[in-house]
Amino acid sequence: MINEKRLLDTFMEYVGIDSETKNEKAMGERLIKDLKALGFEVQTDKAGEGFGSNGFNVHAYLEGELGGEPTIMCAHMDTVKPGNGIKPIVTDGVIHTDGSTILAGDDKGGIAAIMEAVRVIKEKKIPCRNTEILFTIGEEGGMNGVKNMDYGMIKGKEALVFDSSGDVGKIINCGPGQIKIVATVIGRSAHAGLAPETGISAIQVAAKGIAKMNLLRIDEETTCNIGTLKADYATNIVPEKCEFIAEVRSRNLDKLNAQAAHIRDCLQAACDEAGATLEAELRTNYVSYNVPEDDELIQRVNAASDRLGYKKTVMKGGGGSDANVMQLHGIKAIVLGTGMTKVHTTAETLKVEDLNRCAELALDLMTH
Ligand SMILES: [Zn+2]
Repeated sequence: MINEKRLLDTFMEYVGIDSETKNEKAMGERLIKDLKALGFEVQTDKAGEGFGSNGFNVHAYLEGELGGEPTIMCAHMDTVKPGNGIKPIVTDGVIHTDGSTILAGDDKGGIAAIMEAVRVIKEKKIPCRNTEILFTIGEEGGMNGVKNMDYGMIKGKEALVFDSSGDVGKIINCGPGQIKIVATVIGRSAHAGLAPETGISAIQVAAKGIAKMNLLRIDEETTCNIGTLKADYATNIVPEKCEFIAEVRSRNLDKLNAQAAHIRDCLQAACDEAGATLEAELRTNYVSYNVPEDDELIQRVNAASDRLGYKKTVMKGGGGSDANVMQLHGIKAIVLGTGMTKVHTTAETLKVEDLNRCAELALDLMTH
C-alpha cells in the first residue's frame, strides 16, 4: 500500500541532510516542514540546549478515527560520524555509500518509514489509531535528546522505537541499564624518599579496593568494567589522588544497583582501612527495562508481522536506546528492527526491500 518510490526518495533526501549528533537543526527543520505540509501541528522543545546541540525534538499528534491510547512512533534524527556529505547509492536493491561516510540508515530508515506510513494514511484517508510521531536528537552518545525532552508534549504511555539492526519483525523487548561510578581516592601526599610513611598512596588504596572487586562478566545479565584508573605523579611523590571510572550494565535493576554499590563499597572499605577519603558518584545513565513477551504492545507488533508475513522474533538488547530513557518517564517502549546492517560503520547498508517492509509495518501498526 505504500508508495515505494516516494519512500526511497524521502530516505535518500533525509540521509543527504547532515545531522551528526549535536547538529540536528537542519534535519529538524526539514521534518517540521514535511509534517506541516501534511497538515500537522508540530511541537518542538529546547532539548538541544541541555547538551550543546543546535537541534530539538520534533513531535506531532495524529488523532485517529480508531482512537485508543496514543502510540508513540519514534526514531532519532542524529547520526554518528562520519555523517556529513552522505551520498547514498543503490546497487542491486541495496543502499550504501562510497565508503567515505556512514549511510545513516540508523536511524533515517526509521524516520522515512514512519513518514511514509503517515503520508499514506493522510493521502488515502485510512482510519488510524491515535498516534504520536516523535523524532529525537542526541540518541547516539547517550540518548541526550530524550533525557532533555519536554515530556509535557507527550501524551501516550507506549512507544515503538524504530531503531534496531536486524530484520523487520524483530522486537527488542529488554535492554540493560547502565550506571557509571566516577570516583576519586584521596590519600596524602608525602616525599617518597624522605618520609613515605607519612603519606597515603591513593594508587595503592585504589589497587587494594580493585583487588576485592568482582569485575567483567558478573552473571548472564550483568557486566562491570573499569575504564579509567588515573594518577600521574613523579615517583618521588606519594600520590595524593587517583581517579577511577567504571561502568555496570544489567538488564536487572536490582542487580545493576547492587553491583554499582559493590564497586563503591570496595573502594570505601580500602579508603577506610588506609585513612584515605573517597569521593564517589553513581551516575545512572539509563535504566534497564523488560517488557514481557505476552505484553499487549509486543502482541500488537507480532500480529502486524503475521498480517504482513514477516518473521517474528523477540530478543534481548545489549545497548542503550531511547527506549531505556523513556522507561524512566513511565513510557513502555520496545525497539523494532528496521533492516539496517553494519551500523556505525562506513560499510553500513539498508536493503530497499527492508525500507519498504519497515514502512508497511509502521502503516499496519497505525491502522490496526
Ligand atoms: Zn540508532
